[in-house]
This record gives sequence, structure tokens and C-alpha cells, in this order.
Amino acid sequence: MDKKFRVFATCDIGEAIDLLRKRGYDVEVYPHPEAPPKQLVVEKVRSGIDGLITTLRDPIDAEVFEAGKGTLKVVAQIAVGFDNINRTDANRYKIPFTHTADVLTEATAEFAFFMMGALARKMWTAEHLTRENQWGYWHPYLPFLGDEVTGKTVAVIGTGRIGLAFIKKCVGFDLNVLCYDPAYQNDAFVKTIGEIQWLRHARGLVKEMPWIKYVSFEDALRQADFVSVHVPLLRAGESTTPTYHLFNEQTLRVMKPTAYLVNTSRGPVVDEEALARALRENWIAGAALDVYEKEPLPEDSPLRDPAIADRCRLMPHFASAARITRLSVDPDKGMAGRCAQGLIDVLEKNYGGDITRMPYVVNKEAFGKM
Ligand code: NAD
Repeated sequence: MDKKFRVFATCDIGEAIDLLRKRGYDVEVYPHPEAPPKQLVVEKVRSGIDGLITTLRDPIDAEVFEAGKGTLKVVAQIAVGFDNINRTDANRYKIPFTHTADVLTEATAEFAFFMMGALARKMWTAEHLTRENQWGYWHPYLPFLGDEVTGKTVAVIGTGRIGLAFIKKCVGFDLNVLCYDPAYQNDAFVKTIGEIQWLRHARGLVKEMPWIKYVSFEDALRQADFVSVHVPLLRAGESTTPTYHLFNEQTLRVMKPTAYLVNTSRGPVVDEEALARALRENWIAGAALDVYEKEPLPEDSPLRDPAIADRCRLMPHFASAARITRLSVDPDKGMAGRCAQGLIDVLEKNYGGDITRMPYVVNKEAFGKM
């Protein structure tokens, strides 16, 4: 390499940093676990770095791109979601940004599935009972019961990578699946799942044959026992079907009072005030959340209300937090590896320097032939 690339990482991404250093990169890592102040990121970019490694906690917009005018060549995000990066600004400054899709798909989907089970079977409340020495007897229904997952009906909102992986997990529990996605209907996938469901029934593994189909948003909410959300955060103006507050007072009221909501997508997809009310007033049976409108979850969040603690599971944005998924340096296995590779592809002009051919670049549209 004739030039030593300078990189600033807003967070330590483990061994992948050593991998970059071994290639001769000069990498500075923000040393604290919290996100750096935005002004620090702007200063680092202004100092002439070639690459910036970001997490979903860093707001990346025109101010950052302006500071990197003529010097910043790539922003490499360690996440699949990139709602913290202003795509229009990135395109205006012609700076590519990369993400780490696919390598976290199965981990996120399985976590959503486990959250669904933990919520419905009241595992948290049940363990508290044991730990707090309140387990006085075995009784047919006291002090409470949970709801089975097997054989129920789940609505999958957003049938992209993670939504489809979630559906694969549902097959083993013989769930009926209602799919909703306004932009992308994967009919071939639905057909395959239908064939597996048929086979499980035909070979006697399940008495009633489960089913899967695409339906409208309203039908999905109306019929589901569980609703699992797998959409990107899209604010008004960013899509013809934005997802900001997709779950609000009106839509939560469409769900069955016995239904559960699981959100591992992005916090602002759910109106938390409305959800807290829905739980307090029993419009729905429960919710399990991994993501929040403001992260970390504020101390005064209505979701912390002890009155709804038995039906509201709160996880710390943890769905992709599995060892290999987060830290493997193999770009086909780990977010860290894929993040580093995305950065390398742009800086070292892989793919003949053609950004539109680089697999991890998101905003390819800014680099197409005019
Ligand atoms: P994806 O782009 O493959 O899938 C998203 C799907 O949502 C697409 O098919 C899209 O058409 C659909 N969609 C868009 N607008 C919609 C709407 N209004 N209603 C219903 N569907 C809509 O993305 P993915 O890899 O499956 O990831 C989905 C999201 O999950 C990410 O954008 C990210 O925000 C979130 N995520 C969270 C964690 C976590 O740790 N909690 C981990 C990974 C991903």
C-alpha cells in the first residue's frame, strides 16, 4: 500500500481493529464505551481521516460530511440499520457508507423468537417468583399462567432478511404465519415454507396443518396472537410507507387483547407512550422490546411502570449481541469483520474501484454512471 490510511473508530470493534492495523492502517479508537460527543467526531473527520467506523449511536449528517470534504472516503457502520446516517447528505457529498447486513440476521431473528417465548410463558415473572421465595406450592393455575406459542398465529411485519429468518424459526413450532410487507413480497419463500408445513402435517408431526400467507397490515394485526416487527426505521419523507410510530394508539387497538407485540427493529417504530397505555389498560396482553425511542431507556420511561412489569419485557438493544455475530473478523460471520471489510473495499479500491459493485456499500445510487 503506498498510502497509510487514517481511520477513526467511534467504538472498539475488537480484533478487527488489529486486522486493520496489521494492514498498515493508522487506527484511533475512541476509548470509552459510550458514544463520543458529535463534536469530537466532527473534529476527527476535519483532521483528515480517510475512514470513519460508526455505530448506530452516532448521528452522521451534513456537518460530519462537510468536515470531511475532500478527505473522508468512507463511513463504515457496524450495524445493518443505518437510520443514524443521513443518506441524502452522504449522497450529496458523494461519500459511500457501508453496513453489516446478513451476518446478524439469524442472531437477531432467534433473539426475537426467544423474546416472544419468554414473554408469553412469563419466564421473567416465574423466575422472580422462585428467586424471591414466593413459590409456595404447585397449583393448576396459581399464581398465574402463561400462553403457549406452539400452533398459534404470528404476524411478521417486514419480510426482509430478519423477518424471513424469524419465519424459519416459527416453522419448528408449527405457527401459522401472516406476512406483511408493502415493498417486498417473497412468494417463493412463502411457497417453500408452505411445503415444509405441508410435509410436517403429511408425515404426522403435527395434527392441524399450519399455513402462511401475505395479508394487509390490518388483517395481520387483527388476526395475530403474536406480532413481531422487522422493519427499518423510515421517517416521513424517507418512504411512501414510513415506519415511524407504525405502532401507535390506533394500530395497537386493532390487535387482539390476548396478543403480544415483539419489537427488535428500531425504537421509534413504536409509540412508547401509546404502548405503555395499551399495557396498562390491557388493549394487548404484553410486549417485549429490545429497542427504544431513546436509548439507553430513560429512568422515567412509562415502560418502567411496575404495574406493567409482568407483561413488559425490556432488553438492552441486545438482539445481535452474540459472540461470533458481533466480533468475528470473518466478514461472512461477524459484524466487526464485515465492517472492516466494507472499509477496506472502499479505501483499497477493491472491485476495480467501482463502488456500485462493492457488496457492503449501502448508497450505491450516488455512484452510478450518469
Ligand atoms: P431488510 O431491509 O432486509 O428488511 C426490512 C423489510 O421491511 C423490507 O423487506 C422492507 O420492504 C420492509 N418494510 C419497509 N417498510 C415497511 C413497512 N412500512 N411495513 C412493513 N414492512 C416494511 O432489513 P433486515 O436486515 O431484515 O433488518 C431490519 C431492521 O432490523 C434493521 O433495519 C434494523 O433497524 C433492525 N435490527 C435490529 C437489531 C437489534 O439488535 N435489535 C439487529 C439487526 C437489525
